Amino acid sequence: MRESTSTTSMVIKAMAFAAEKHRNQRRKDADASPYINHPIALAHTLVNEGGIENPLVLCAAVLHDTIEDTETTADELKGCFGEKITSIVLEVTDDTSLPKHARKQLQIEHAPHISPEAKLVKLADKICNLRDIISSPPAGWPEARKREYFDWAEQVVAGIQGVNSRLEAVFYDLYKRKPEPLSW
Ligand code: NDP
Ligand code: ZN
Repeated sequence: MRESTSTTSMVIKAMAFAAEKHRNQRRKDADASPYINHPIALAHTLVNEGGIENPLVLCAAVLHDTIEDTETTADELKGCFGEKITSIVLEVTDDTSLPKHARKQLQIEHAPHISPEAKLVKLADKICNLRDIISSPPAGWPEARKREYFDWAEQVVAGIQGVNSRLEAVFYDLYKRKPEPLSW
């Protein structure tokens, strides 16, 4: 009881922190949904589709875009959430000083070597982004760009097999829904 209470309180604390950090950001869909919907979707997927209850993984999922996409620093995360959660977040954080193409290639190369906890967060991130591209895609993306994203995500996920078979199955079910090229 005590342990589950402290797990809940840690995850809620992470949600409050992420909500504050992402408060002025929006997703790229036509409705410009609040950004925080996305980190919450990762936690939802991990718990309800992957059966993951490890609070370190759930907190890292909720915080996964704070360093990459807000002014949050690793030291700030360490102070609030400790070393382990911070290290998971750092493992799934791209180096934004690199060009986009290099960042995407590095994700493919690094994915097999990250910790099991970071692999779970990365898998949930790709699941949630494929779902978003299917149901509320970035405004203005042609089908070819959506397909490109699906194929890149699959290359990343191919390198992180073996951490959670249920989530892997969810990913590959979504991957089957890759938008088809236009045929005449
Ligand atoms: P982006 O990285 O610019 O956008 C995808 C990211 O946006 C996701 O990973 C997700 O990141 C975030 N996101 C926010 N809202 C949504 C949403 N509604 N649905 C899904 N994701 C959302 O795009 P690309 O992955 O295409 O990366 C750019 C690459 O594309 C470059 O390498 C460039 O060369 C290429 N490019 C291709 C074009 C084309 O037409 N084919 C045109 C321009 C560039 P998070 O989880 O971090 O929020
Ligand atoms: Zn994300």
